[in-house]
Amino acid sequence: MPEAKLSLRGVEKSFGANQVLRGIDMEVTEGEMICLIGASGSGKSTLLRCINQLEPIDEGRVLLDGQDISEPGLDLGPVRRRIGIVFQSYNLFPHMSALENVTLAPRRVLHEEATALQARAATLFARFGLAEHMLKYPDQLSGGQQQRVAVIRALAMRPEIMLFDEITAALDPELVGEVLAVLRQLREEGMTMLLATHEMGFARDLADRVCFMDGGVIVEEGPPEQIFSAPQVARTQAFLASVL
Ligand code: ADP
Ligand code: MG
Repeated sequence: MPEAKLSLRGVEKSFGANQVLRGIDMEVTEGEMICLIGASGSGKSTLLRCINQLEPIDEGRVLLDGQDISEPGLDLGPVRRRIGIVFQSYNLFPHMSALENVTLAPRRVLHEEATALQARAATLFARFGLAEHMLKYPDQLSGGQQQRVAVIRALAMRPEIMLFDEITAALDPELVGEVLAVLRQLREEGMTMLLATHEMGFARDLADRVCFMDGGVIVEEGPPEQIFSAPQVARTQAFLASVL
């Protein structure tokens, strides 16, 4: 059996006395798209942040290609390059063009030669339908366009896994679709992805697997048709009844 791209084994995380993750086990295969659903406060964001080591975990292990990346003292630079993350608030630098926002980190971190990097970035903008907006500043772009630039910025680091934390939650409803289209395209291109999302329709259509979180555990997981049409656990049923 092929080794999992990403494995979580008994991951626990507390903030002070508040235990937010209570033993998370998960195996993610290369090219898989996993949607995390669950009420606010159930631990979805913390789980994503613990995967790319933005938060140190208290117990358990996170393995990337079989390597323990949660080991204390490990150099986290390479880990954060290999696992990209995009948040609800896109936080582009306002005084830089979209292109400059995208090339900043690769130039500094990957030490990529300027001409090659610009060409690679331009290809990314074109691939996600933003070629004509590349030289604009964030305040000349819609929220949906800015969020797509934020996704491109993360992709420019050539990540192997992408994490998306409610990336459409702050957008006006008419702009959500263009951002979800980017995720759909990435999935078709075979990117390994974990998404925390409230977009149940999107999760149902596109997830390979849906994980329902409550109280810091994965209460139920399975293919979307099972989770949405025939949830087995009462807590999953109650959550879905409240959002669908
Ligand atoms: P979700 O993304 O599912 O809404 P979160 O992971 O954001 O859930 O939050 C889970 C719990 O962890 C909440 O009780 C929240 O208050 C707490 N929490 C999250 N981040 C921090 C932090 N940096 N410091 C203290 N508590 C936090
Ligand atoms: Mg969250």
